[in-house]
Amino acid sequence: MAVKLIMVIPCYNEEPVLEETAKRLDAKYKSLIEKDYISKDSKIMFVDDGSKDKTWQIITELHNKNNVFSGLKLSRNRGHQNAVLAGLMTAKDEADVVISMDADLQDDINSIDGFLEEHAKGADVVYGVRASRETDTAFKRTTALMFYKLMNKLGVDSVYNHADYRLMSKRALNALAEYKEVNLFLRGMVPLIGYKSAKVTYDRSERFAGESKYPLKKMIAFALDGITSLSVKPIRLIFSAGLIIFVLSFFVLLYALIAHIAGKTVSGWTSTVASIWLIGGIQLLSIGVVGEYIGKIYNETKQRPRFIIEEYLKD
Ligand code: UDP
Ligand code: MG
Repeated sequence: MAVKLIMVIPCYNEEPVLEETAKRLDAKYKSLIEKDYISKDSKIMFVDDGSKDKTWQIITELHNKNNVFSGLKLSRNRGHQNAVLAGLMTAKDEADVVISMDADLQDDINSIDGFLEEHAKGADVVYGVRASRETDTAFKRTTALMFYKLMNKLGVDSVYNHADYRLMSKRALNALAEYKEVNLFLRGMVPLIGYKSAKVTYDRSERFAGESKYPLKKMIAFALDGITSLSVKPIRLIFSAGLIIFVLSFFVLLYALIAHIAGKTVSGWTSTVASIWLIGGIQLLSIGVVGEYIGKIYNETKQRPRFIIEEYLKD
């Protein structure tokens, strides 16, 4: 049975790839309509995340030429996750199913058939999972693996090797809309929703044009966001460490007293300095982590809008 599909494609300075992406997706849509997988009024929605190049101009032209393309323009750059959410929340009222995908065609668009088949079998969420990370640099591969392992240790349920290439049904999107948090880490939030889910594996290729918009700095910020938005275990770890040190300090005190009474008062300068540094370091670290959470509370209490839509090119 044909469903109305809207694909949500976040775009930040994607001038070099947009036309080609649009061309390939349009062809894909034609074949999906022919197979009766999707309805004729299905759309491809480009979300311009405050690009500084001609991205919005290209989107407008695409929309004018072919109304399979729709465009959503954010008022300024709000980052990948916010751009995806803006698209999902706009698309959910019109579509039966929504698929989010990057603009650079690193994700295999031929998996869309598989996504729709899993949805037809009853899955509300279908995760696109990369079969291998061969096309990524060794650095990105190892850091990503470490990150997934750490996330799991911290009790965050995230799908291994899944980025934001994912199908969600209207029902799943309505549930996602209930999560009011400002610090977004969608791939950690979606599993929290529940409902039936499935996975489709694909090979991820290289970006065919343009540059990655995720430099190391943004990647680290994203990883930190993921951990601190979804887990309170770091606070508990600090609490445990604090407890252990507190207990140990009694023994140290006892030892110091005995040494004093025994007259061995040539107490070591080294140990004093070392302990000051140790405690000082631990305290600073603890304050830093606690501060991170306080920062989050601060942000949440402000209830800032996660995105502001400037325009919506629709029919
Ligand atoms: N993106 C965005 N806003 C940003 C940064 C990136 O909407 O501030 C989009 C970008 O246009 C692309 C997707 O997010 O469609 C993923 O970015 P990219 O391909 O550069 O990341 P990588 O694949 O290198 O991790
Ligand atoms: Mg990419």
